[in-house]
Amino acid sequence: MFALRLITSATKFTKTLPSASCINTIHTLNVLFKNKTDDLLSVDIRGESLQFPYVWLRENCQCEQCYHTSAKSRILDWNNFDLNVKPKDVSKDQHSLQVTWNDGHTSQFNLNWLKFRGFTTENQNNYTETIYKPKNITWNNEDFPKIFTKHDYNEILNSEEALYNWLHQLSVYGVALIQNTPDSETAIDAVVNKIGFTKRTHYGVKFVVRNVPNTSNVAYLSSNLQLHTDLPYYEYCPGVNLLHCLVQTVSRGGENVLSDCHYVAQYMKVHHPEQYKLLTDTEIEWRDVGVEDGNEFYKLHRDPVICLDRHGEVTRINFSIPQRGSQFPGPIDLVKPWYEAHANFLALNQKFGARFKTSTGDILCFNNIRLLHGRNAYEDSENNVRQLIGAYVDWDEIYSRLRCLRVKLKNEDGIC
Ligand SMILES: [Zn+2]
Repeated sequence: MFALRLITSATKFTKTLPSASCINTIHTLNVLFKNKTDDLLSVDIRGESLQFPYVWLRENCQCEQCYHTSAKSRILDWNNFDLNVKPKDVSKDQHSLQVTWNDGHTSQFNLNWLKFRGFTTENQNNYTETIYKPKNITWNNEDFPKIFTKHDYNEILNSEEALYNWLHQLSVYGVALIQNTPDSETAIDAVVNKIGFTKRTHYGVKFVVRNVPNTSNVAYLSSNLQLHTDLPYYEYCPGVNLLHCLVQTVSRGGENVLSDCHYVAQYMKVHHPEQYKLLTDTEIEWRDVGVEDGNEFYKLHRDPVICLDRHGEVTRINFSIPQRGSQFPGPIDLVKPWYEAHANFLALNQKFGARFKTSTGDILCFNNIRLLHGRNAYEDSENNVRQLIGAYVDWDEIYSRLRCLRVKLKNEDGIC
């Protein structure tokens, strides 16, 4: 006999509820749970007993009437969808589950597909890490030599495995270096094309970083470039910065500094909780005003320095001394304490930041909404003018490419 049970008792349902801390913030859930359906189907899949709500199973029917295979989209008609649908007959073989519903429809599910979508914490975490987004691993200056991986330009262009490895490292650690890039202003394009396309900003589709007197941006100066994120004044802030070093300075200076703000944020949360709260709660106005290539711009965006999601995880860092506006949107009493928190955040990023110098042919790739980056002062000479070509790419495109590659390379049944 196959092990299938129709569960009408709600006793086991509490296992799948969010944690208590989560419930506190969304009080309406208590009301919702009183009306919860206790209609669950229990299915044994490779020794694991998994439960699936009837309504979820029926809505996620994979047949051609309910799911369009080439569009990979649900086409089930919600106008005729019964929220109280119940199975009439259930059977299972080695690979699939078949359910005939009281509306007469029959659904078939691949068991691996079901397991991958199982409602246990373990299965949900597995889905999150394999398909949604790989988990970030934080680092400081001592860890940096171990986590800073180097990837070959030609391998990335010619091998999907190499492309996947580079993007995966970039996603987990927020930084990864490409080496052996040809000496050409367009060499970076081939890398971008492997992902998708650049994020265009008012500085162009790509941008050149070199010393420019009377510049529209302080990055185009040779003096110290203090730790910052790029373009915090964009609501849709570019996710990743790619900087191709065409000419590195032979003078002293010009070293890069990178700091993982996820590490610093966690450190502040533990050691300076009040300052952490000020940086996560206080909205700041980020600003860039000027003219580039004859086009005027006036960009403003309000967000805290450390942005959190509903789980308290850092989603985005905004930090730029030149591009923080003078308008302070918060209460006057918060100004001085906020400045103290800001000073400490900067000092900790300097303390835990890693220092190194890229070479000609390197493309330094880093998460612009997670890491701070900066550069020490340098001096150009007549025969040695430091020059970088930069491009931005959004995380939406990178995660999308990572998922496509993952599905293709690992060939795991039941993912899609
Ligand atoms: Zn169907």
